[in-house]
Amino acid sequence: MRPEVLFDYFADIERLPGIGKRNKLAIERIAGDRMVHLLMHMPTGLIDRRYRPSLIDAVPGSIVTVLVTVDKHVRLANRRAPYRVQCHDDTGELTLVFFNPRADWLNKQLPEGEPRLISGRLEEYQGKLQITHPDYMVNPDNTAEMPELETIYPLTAGLSGKVLRKAVAVALDSVPPLPEWQNSSVMKRDSWPSFTDALKTVHAPQAIEDLNASSLARRRLACDELLATQLALAIVRERTRRKRGRRLVGDGTIRGKILAALPFSLTNDQQTALQEIVSDLENERAMLRLMQGDVGSGKTVVALLAAAAAAEAGVQTALLAPTEILARQHLETIEPLANAAGLKVALLTGRNKGKPRTALLETLAAGDIDILVGTHAIIQDDVVFKDLGFAIIDEQHRFGVQQRLTLASKAQFGVDVLGMTATPIPRTLTLTAYGDMDVSLIREKPPGRMPVDTRVVALDRLSDVAAGIGRAVQAGARAYWVCPLVEESELLDIAAAEERFATLRHMFGDQVGLVHGKMKALEKDAVMEQFQRGEISILVSTTVIEVGVNVPEATIMVIEHAERFGLSQLHQLRGRVGRSDLQSRCILLRANEIGEVARSRLKIMRETEDGFLIAEEDLRLRGGGEVLGTKQSGLPEFKLVDFGEHADLIELARDDARLIINKDPELTSERGKNLRCLLYLFERDEGVRLMQSG
Ligand code: ADP
Ligand code: MG
Repeated sequence: MRPEVLFDYFADIERLPGIGKRNKLAIERIAGDRMVHLLMHMPTGLIDRRYRPSLIDAVPGSIVTVLVTVDKHVRLANRRAPYRVQCHDDTGELTLVFFNPRADWLNKQLPEGEPRLISGRLEEYQGKLQITHPDYMVNPDNTAEMPELETIYPLTAGLSGKVLRKAVAVALDSVPPLPEWQNSSVMKRDSWPSFTDALKTVHAPQAIEDLNASSLARRRLACDELLATQLALAIVRERTRRKRGRRLVGDGTIRGKILAALPFSLTNDQQTALQEIVSDLENERAMLRLMQGDVGSGKTVVALLAAAAAAEAGVQTALLAPTEILARQHLETIEPLANAAGLKVALLTGRNKGKPRTALLETLAAGDIDILVGTHAIIQDDVVFKDLGFAIIDEQHRFGVQQRLTLASKAQFGVDVLGMTATPIPRTLTLTAYGDMDVSLIREKPPGRMPVDTRVVALDRLSDVAAGIGRAVQAGARAYWVCPLVEESELLDIAAAEERFATLRHMFGDQVGLVHGKMKALEKDAVMEQFQRGEISILVSTTVIEVGVNVPEATIMVIEHAERFGLSQLHQLRGRVGRSDLQSRCILLRANEIGEVARSRLKIMRETEDGFLIAEEDLRLRGGGEVLGTKQSGLPEFKLVDFGEHADLIELARDDARLIINKDPELTSERGKNLRCLLYLFERDEGVRLMQSG
């Protein structure tokens, strides 16, 4: 149950007075639908209206506040000409410019002969000073109507800064102070403000310094968010490790057979990763390790060899994948090798039903399956292992806390857990996303892969690109065509993809298929399978195509409006080609006009295929929120942390979370209760619910 003190924080923004429905929808889109989401929508800048020059000294281009006398309203007969109001002070003249104003309203705001305080961006037009649509026009007797400092927020279509500021101000006033959850000695040492005071400081700053990521207020808030995340992860870790672990020591015979059956030898990185995993298995402490490596770097083979080591020690392994198609792909990689070594492998997904499923479960319970590959279906209650000792979880962040723990609960002893991910993220971010896991990295690609030929092409050459793909497809190639992100709306993404699908279909007929996020999983899988089998050769999609999907025959990747994607995302998309000994191509279609930063980002894509390097660049160029924050990645979203500025806080939060859970695993102490409140506040409360369920 959410603590009562948080009720006002989670009140629906519906409750905001004086804000219309359309504005509320816009706020919901950009921030969220609760007051707390508004409060965590951080301002990015400040408008300072304290600059009050005489007109003669005023610098065009800056925000100015000037005291002038209104002289004359000038309205031309031509209705398209702007409405002008001429003003002056002792030193010069100023024209206020309006397009399509309501004249009666303007006459009331700016009566001729009266003084007015005008604030807005000063422009110089044909040698004269003007302000177009001033932000404020107030009677000098009522200066309180004009704030001296005004925050700037990220906005979305249909939402003005004024409305958002008002909404945030109301939200700030509507929430009570919260009990302190931060360590009191750190609070004192760093003179941190309370949570609510910190929020007030960033939303109603007294100086631009208050907004800097390095300000006390911002650091405190970042630390709160990091602590909530680390605490949630620590709770799961503690639960996973509650059972006694055991030593799983194999004699190497099965591994030896698999290695002998492999048509290649392991790369150095694969060997190192395998050694690390095996020594974790052999250790009594339960393993919590993450194997990171690009798609195609050979993680599955390593996972299989580790499972073989577990089988040598007499225990069963579960290999969990987030989707049916990925589960089946794992099975295809593993099965021939496993069989060659005498290991029994089976697949369990939502498609297994009725008698065959019952038979499979019996075999599993009898211990006659060594490796069970599957989807969420493995987690169901009636799936019972004889002796589950090892769990491999592919793209672990896509499974909920509860699911991971249910899997662990199928074992009598502490299960060794190996996560795998194809999302290369820098070390600091691994910690924030996965918590305190040991990490094995696979950086080198298997030998013999040809680099993907990556080109950046302007969108006005789209029809040339399409024609080129037509020729390649004619010659037997297969191509992905990824459509751009449009704003924040998935529906608009889909519309764009459907439109591209229609044009390509018009050109190339029924060899073109479409997948997008609103399709049912089964429909999506069906289209993906057609593409895998080569029944369609051009696959149009939004960014939803699965990270790990393997179609070695696909050699062309087109990404429309590549400048709108994060670098890591581009890297993931490109990783779908270049999986065979055929030369692959990646065409990054960019807007005809793009800025300097966008240009250098695309240049990085052209120059390297090293996922970790790209992730680091992404972090440098975009501050990390993007690396972690993309919805598709399934990694936790951070609203208050700036990974460039707050990197030092990550370990602090990790250490604190670890200590807390050691001392007070049920969070029942005074501070523990306040920390529960923190978990709810940041919506990391899965862990709290776990504690209640025992
Ligand atoms: P991941 O799971 O990391 O995406 P896989 O384990 O599926 O990658 O490997 C991708 C492909 O590369 C598979 O066909 C696999 O057989 C092959 N492969 C793996 N390791 C090597 C290696 N050391 N040398 C050559 N090919 C390899
Ligand atoms: Mg493993």
